[in-house]
Amino acid sequence: MNTHALQILHDTFGYQNFRGQQADIVECVATGNHAIVLMPTGGGKSLCYQIPALMRAGVTIVVSPLIALMDDQVANLQAAGVAAAAVHSGIPSEKLHAIAHDIRQGVLKLLYVAPERLVSERFVRFMHSIDIGLFAIDEAHCVSQWGHDFRPEYQQLGFLAHEFPHIPRMALTATADEETRADIRHYLQLQDAQTFVSSFDRPNIFYQVIEKNNGKKQLLQFIKSQGHQVSGIVYCLSRKRVEEVALLLQENGFNAIPYHAGLDMAVRTRHQKQFSQEDNVIVVATVAFGMGIDKPDVRFVAHLDMPKSIEHFYQESGRAGRDGLPAISWLCYGLNDWVLLRQRIQDGEASSMQKQIELQKVDAVLSLCETATCRRQLLLAQFDEVSEPCGHCDNCLETPVRFDATELVQKLLSCVYRLKQNCATSYVIDVLRGKDSDWVRRLGHDKLSTFNIGADLSDKEWRSVVRQCVAGGLLSVNLSHNQALQLTEASKAVLKGEQQLWLRPLKRDKKAVLSAPKT
Ligand code: ADP
Ligand code: ZN
Repeated sequence: MNTHALQILHDTFGYQNFRGQQADIVECVATGNHAIVLMPTGGGKSLCYQIPALMRAGVTIVVSPLIALMDDQVANLQAAGVAAAAVHSGIPSEKLHAIAHDIRQGVLKLLYVAPERLVSERFVRFMHSIDIGLFAIDEAHCVSQWGHDFRPEYQQLGFLAHEFPHIPRMALTATADEETRADIRHYLQLQDAQTFVSSFDRPNIFYQVIEKNNGKKQLLQFIKSQGHQVSGIVYCLSRKRVEEVALLLQENGFNAIPYHAGLDMAVRTRHQKQFSQEDNVIVVATVAFGMGIDKPDVRFVAHLDMPKSIEHFYQESGRAGRDGLPAISWLCYGLNDWVLLRQRIQDGEASSMQKQIELQKVDAVLSLCETATCRRQLLLAQFDEVSEPCGHCDNCLETPVRFDATELVQKLLSCVYRLKQNCATSYVIDVLRGKDSDWVRRLGHDKLSTFNIGADLSDKEWRSVVRQCVAGGLLSVNLSHNQALQLTEASKAVLKGEQQLWLRPLKRDKKAVLSAPKT
């Protein structure tokens, strides 16, 4: 162990020991090697470049995508007595001159820069005129279209390898799926880098996923079960819903505040501060809230709507329990969420390849919701991490016993077939359940052989069958055609009776766990 590193950890940052792989990473970079660091949020990535920055001669250039993050880091470093600065559009030009002066004098140890500035000709010229100790590229997943915060400028950062071949480079991120990793290696020219992968498990977080029937009511029930003495975050998909839910919680006596990009900057800043500094505050937010939030005692993160990727879900739910104490991730989902998310992607501006990627990601979330096996195992598999069932999620505590649903699924699939793959979920279910409506009669669907063959199941139960079929790839939803249910290649074997199908129970047990057992 490098005693110098340990001394800095202790004297400057006030910590006794390195965590996880921090010591190895510091050693690797401080001795001039390249590194890729994959560590979950809250794992302690910052020290991995801040300590080498203090060990090496010259200034360390840190690439960071968000001004708020930079300012935060700089403030923390200055408070610890480290000479650090940030350059971004909000910094007046006299200040920039002073910073350049400090760098030339060899006083400044860390300089935070946005990627678009770093790649500018002027800045490159400046970098050639100074002594640089290390390049640290934070939030390196921004380089990848697979990642959730794609920033095209990040892809240009590979030039550092050619222009500054003798300066070590490190990339840091909390997103670690294989595609993103490959992109980081490729675009940042880090083929020779040593890769450090930490476990992404957050053992103190209990995962619970429930089916939506009345989302707001279910949310309220969940939050009430947590008591009034906790801080939490509720994520919703739209601004309107954020406002509604914040109001609902306020009416029920909770100290709830809204946060979304449509609010005034001043209001947002005030609410963010309030959440960080006060106790027992619940923030109701869109995904705009969170990057750079480092509140240790968030006891729950609730998703009232389905997140658009497993990475989003992981990042957002990971804001719970940073202090290591028990915390809950609660997620409420419905087939409508899934359809809505897919529709948004379909209607969006992205290239068709990008859309395919995003659709796959949404589907993976549905699979996480529908799985009858350990949630954590599935989550960690997303980061290529192999694990045993955790014993600390809803499915582990009460493993859903699957039943043979072959006949039910056959009924559903043949009804979809008889309806010429032309009808949306609720209509298909109406026909299965023999609903006597004008529409059904006018279209002659009451004469179909599949009319009324599923009257023994409720609407909700059929929806569960549909969802599980969609998650299992037996049905697809045609977004360009009224969200009609359609058969897939895989459904043929089931229709022909060549394949048996086991589904999760259609009704969730009422006693589903609502508060996390103490770890
Ligand atoms: P990340 O960037 O990976 O999300 P941070 O670098 O912000 O994580 O670190 C998360 C928290 O953990 C910070 O409050 C930091 O001060 C603390 N921390 C990091 N390393 C250590 C350590 N070795 N000992 C104690 N606390 C640490
Ligand atoms: Zn589990």
